Amino acid sequence: MKPVMALVGRPNVGKSTLFNRLTKSRDAIVADFAGLTRDRHYGNAKHGKHEFIVIDTGGFEPTAESGIYMEMAKQTRQAVAEADVVIFVVDARGGLSAQDYDIAKYLRKLGKPTVLTANKAEGMTEGVQLTEFYELGLGEVHAISAAHGQGIRSLVEEALAPLGLSEEDEEETAPDPTVIKLAVAGRPNVGKSTLINTWLGEERLVAFDLPGTTRDAITVPFERNGQKFELIDTAGLRRKGKVFEAIEKFSVVKTLQAIESANVVLLLLDATQGVTDQDAHIAGYILESGRAVVLAVNKWDAVDEYQREQVHRQIETRLAFLKFATMHLISAKKRQGLGPVWQSIAAAHRSAMIKMPTPVLTRLLLEAVAFQQPKRAGMFRPKLRYAHQGGMNPPVIVVHGNSLEHVTDSYKRFLEGRFRAEFKLVGTPLRVEMKTSH
Ligand code: GDP
Ligand code: GDP
Repeated sequence: MKPVMALVGRPNVGKSTLFNRLTKSRDAIVADFAGLTRDRHYGNAKHGKHEFIVIDTGGFEPTAESGIYMEMAKQTRQAVAEADVVIFVVDARGGLSAQDYDIAKYLRKLGKPTVLTANKAEGMTEGVQLTEFYELGLGEVHAISAAHGQGIRSLVEEALAPLGLSEEDEEETAPDPTVIKLAVAGRPNVGKSTLINTWLGEERLVAFDLPGTTRDAITVPFERNGQKFELIDTAGLRRKGKVFEAIEKFSVVKTLQAIESANVVLLLLDATQGVTDQDAHIAGYILESGRAVVLAVNKWDAVDEYQREQVHRQIETRLAFLKFATMHLISAKKRQGLGPVWQSIAAAHRSAMIKMPTPVLTRLLLEAVAFQQPKRAGMFRPKLRYAHQGGMNPPVIVVHGNSLEHVTDSYKRFLEGRFRAEFKLVGTPLRVEMKTSH
């Protein structure tokens, strides 16, 4: 599981700027997808060998007793509770404020690993202006500039190295490719537990007992028609006797971690509610993760014709970026439409794990170029020479050649479409990357 980092501090110290900087590389991938909301407070970050989840907490007023501030404080406390390490951001230029003392007091009491970080420190001689922050009683002050990207790498190192999680990850044994790791994701009340219990009640689905199942990570291994699966918990589900119950509050962090650990994510929507912001956010995380995805609209039994049309329209507009996913209309409660969902999960998994031989990819590439050449950019005409597979789940195709930095996004999409069609890929994103040799 990826470690979780929470950014905490009073408003205006630069938390969002830092959040954007930490998650930037991922955002670039999804920048041009319509319908993908960007105002998120959770993000995946990758710096050097460290991969982690960042939470931006907005402004924090630990003593707030009402209104929006109380809501913010509550959210911050939740984020901090889920975090492995807290980055407490203060303003190197503005200096200490009463609020900073309050937050420091709260964090000291909490005893979580905390890195005190003075932002906006670009061009400042370290040591001189920063001494006052030692008064917060949180040890070393780490000077950064989120806006200018200074001190970020050593901040990440300092925050995550003590957790020792990254090395552990590297030692992981290769996963069994015949097992489909499946996560059922969706916001509260869409019917995740109902669906899982319906599944586990099916005769042809044989669940195994897992000794040593912890409260934090539930995986249920099972077999269905000879195919092995591992169900990864997202819902804060807990086994109670033979059935699963949602016992905890919805947790974005758990959802993100489950998505990351899965090969295929079944994204569940609630037909009676339509596509909400939270649905779009979760869908955005799935897209970013590159996992295969199947869409299921649950509670189809409970909506009339008008609502059904609404749902279809909302999916088309708000989840346009998941067009590659197969959609199913189901009722977990009435056990309707569930069979085809399994077929789509298997098909998505097959597509996500596909092996594409270099000669075939290169032939397809050259055929595509013969059909339509990339545009000339000034003096340069990109020359596409050959292609090989650079990864799985999601499949990545690396195209080699010259002047490839001039290949337009629309040409990349054209290539993606050709590869997709040839390999009959369904339910998985496909990434096409350009690698220029000079
Ligand atoms: P938040 O309220 O803590 O999320 O703060 P924001 O990220 O919205 O930043 C507040 C203001 O500080 C914005 O005007 C930013 O441009 C500015 N800011 C953020 N980081 C830096 C920095 O490293 N240096 C300087 N000089 N300004 C910064
Ligand atoms: P979770 O929070 O995503 O695990 O959602 P639950 O499985 O607890 O379901 C939330 C509510 O939706 C419960 O009252 C269920 O009975 C109801 N529900 C679940 N699936 C269906 C369905 O297919 N049709 C209808 N009408 N209600 C459903």
